[in-house]
Amino acid sequence: MGEGGLTYRALFRSLAFAVVFAVAVLLGRLTVLEGTNLSLVWPAAGVAALWFAAQRAADTLYLDYALLGGLTFALNLVTGAPLMLALCFAGANLIQVALLHHLLQRWNPTLWGAGGDRPLTGTQQLLGLLLAALLATGAGGLLGPTAVGVLTGQWSLLSAVVWMVRNCVAVVLILGLGLRVGYLISAHQRARRAENGPHALPAPSIVLPFIRLHGSRGLELTLFVLLSVTAYLLVFVLSSQLPIAFVLITLPVWAALRFDTTIVVVHNFVAGVAAVVFTLAGSGPFASVADYAVRALIVQMFVGVVALVGLALALGRDERELLLAQVRSHAREADERAEHVEVLARLARQLSTSDDVRTDICVAARQITGADMAYLFEPGGDDELVTAASSAGEGIEVPPVAFSLNSDEPSLTVQAFRGHELRFVADLPARDDATVRVVEGLRIVAAAWQPIHTHTDQAIAVLSLAWRQPVRSLPAHVAPMLQTLAGEAAVAIERGDLLARLATVANQDALTGLPNRLRWDQAAGEEIARAERNGLPLTFGLIDLDHFKRYNDSRGHLAGDALLREFASNARQHLRVVDTLARWGGEEFAMALPGCTAEEAVAVADRIRASVPRAQTCTIGVAQWQPGQSVQDVLDEADIALYRGKSEGRNTTVIAPPKLRNTAALLPHQRRKDNHPQLS
Ligand code: GH3
Ligand code: MG
Ligand code: MG
Repeated sequence: MGEGGLTYRALFRSLAFAVVFAVAVLLGRLTVLEGTNLSLVWPAAGVAALWFAAQRAADTLYLDYALLGGLTFALNLVTGAPLMLALCFAGANLIQVALLHHLLQRWNPTLWGAGGDRPLTGTQQLLGLLLAALLATGAGGLLGPTAVGVLTGQWSLLSAVVWMVRNCVAVVLILGLGLRVGYLISAHQRARRAENGPHALPAPSIVLPFIRLHGSRGLELTLFVLLSVTAYLLVFVLSSQLPIAFVLITLPVWAALRFDTTIVVVHNFVAGVAAVVFTLAGSGPFASVADYAVRALIVQMFVGVVALVGLALALGRDERELLLAQVRSHAREADERAEHVEVLARLARQLSTSDDVRTDICVAARQITGADMAYLFEPGGDDELVTAASSAGEGIEVPPVAFSLNSDEPSLTVQAFRGHELRFVADLPARDDATVRVVEGLRIVAAAWQPIHTHTDQAIAVLSLAWRQPVRSLPAHVAPMLQTLAGEAAVAIERGDLLARLATVANQDALTGLPNRLRWDQAAGEEIARAERNGLPLTFGLIDLDHFKRYNDSRGHLAGDALLREFASNARQHLRVVDTLARWGGEEFAMALPGCTAEEAVAVADRIRASVPRAQTCTIGVAQWQPGQSVQDVLDEADIALYRGKSEGRNTTVIAPPKLRNTAALLPHQRRKDNHPQLS
């Protein structure tokens, strides 16, 4: 409804209300008792209350006050009230409506008609409305009848009470009906407006409360209407002399317990009008009350009680239903949250045991968002963000993509990588700063980016999500879930990289960069297994630098280290990719030459011997693996051959003769259990 400002709508509303108000005043004036100035009913009080509720947000309230005051004054004058009295009535009406308006806004600020957008709900709000009506009409009642008393000498407490009660009843009846219908119209309009927005709501129908009643409920409503009409006719026409109006109190109870509140307020209004019209026509149980003021009071009280009973029951029920709906919605939210936590916990578990952390992060991000594609970008070598992993829906290709980190106009992906927040762009093709080749190449229309930071707040990656179908906005749960995923992803990426580094370090000799003893044991076992499978020959060799201790002693330990490094690098160059050269310990190396017989290995070994730098030499023992032998068996033979070479004067290659295998046991003193035997 009114959104503020001097709009034509607000003006139109003011004028429409002015017309209705004028009619209501004239109707009221028609019920003035001959020879008095007291009206039996004053519908204008209810119309005025509704008028100001509907205009609450309009900037034209001054106009409404002017119209209301002017009309009351003029109409009273025209219908025979003296000038002063007409002025007083106008003042009383203005005070009444202003106070009511003020109190409603103060006590029920969330109520539609008081500035909020909620329906009249609950007994608390009804009490607020009733109290505001009593106070406002009480103020009017102080002024109006007092003026009558002062000006005409006809003042009585009764007429003041009648003034107050009839106005109060008019407010409850007409404002109650108007607030309900006004709320429905405004909720309907709001829902219609939201229909085009991202969070569409079903538009509530204004007539729905009446036509929604399928089957038995519709039948019951028909029965209710028929019985109501019959009951009112019985009470007000047929049994005029019997005061049995109290029976009618069952009707609002029925309505409130079984039907929508809109039906209750309509019933209140129609029943009230019926009671007043019959009484005015001299029919029904109240018409027989001789005193006009008492008659007016009784009719008004009857109408008021009927209305309040219906409203109290219906609004109490509405409040319970609202609470129930809130509880249900909270329960649903809690369920959803639990589901999201479960999803995240599963993803975290998956990431912690994943062999391919980066791809799993992309898969998880698509699960959370429903995106068609997910890319994980990380800084690469050439000052670029490069594709570290990706995932896409069926039939969608995800070619590697890269973005320059040095560009003067950084891409949205680079901007997001440097930022901290989740970013979402719904209209990618319309954006100037979107990278056209990517948007067109991947045929995407919407995208989101979640930067990934380590616990020390260092940006290490950005997760990009892209959609080929339009997406208006991301659901509320997506942002916190992606944020959590980013946290888990950072940990998983860091841990994965660390593990990879640790694995390398654990298998590498720090000085020479060759595989270490640990890795050698694995590789040697693997080579034997392979040789067993493919039946090809396999030869192991042990290399020991000659007089290395002497070299160390004369040139220093650092020079010794340098020699070891250079030798490792030279020796490696004489081997094939499939060969293994490892640092076995100290100045000793082990090698595995798959596909080589011992005789062929000698040639390789001799080349290696010739590659020892700085005029140094080495001795090599080689042994060919025989089926059934373990790594240890072959190395023992190579070791014996090596020591034969040492004892034969060094700088030579010695093959372990097969016969040695059986004599090995006879030469226990030649078997070395440690790496540094003191043989020389
Ligand atoms: P042989 O010809 O009989 O093999 O004599 P050798 O001196 O080479 O043999 P020995 O086993 O007596 O000495 C090996 C020396 O290698 C002893 C040790 O100080 C040295 N060494 C072991 N590891 C390293 C290392 O990492 N760096 C250096 N600089 N020296 C090492
Ligand atoms: Mg040595
Ligand atoms: Mg040695």
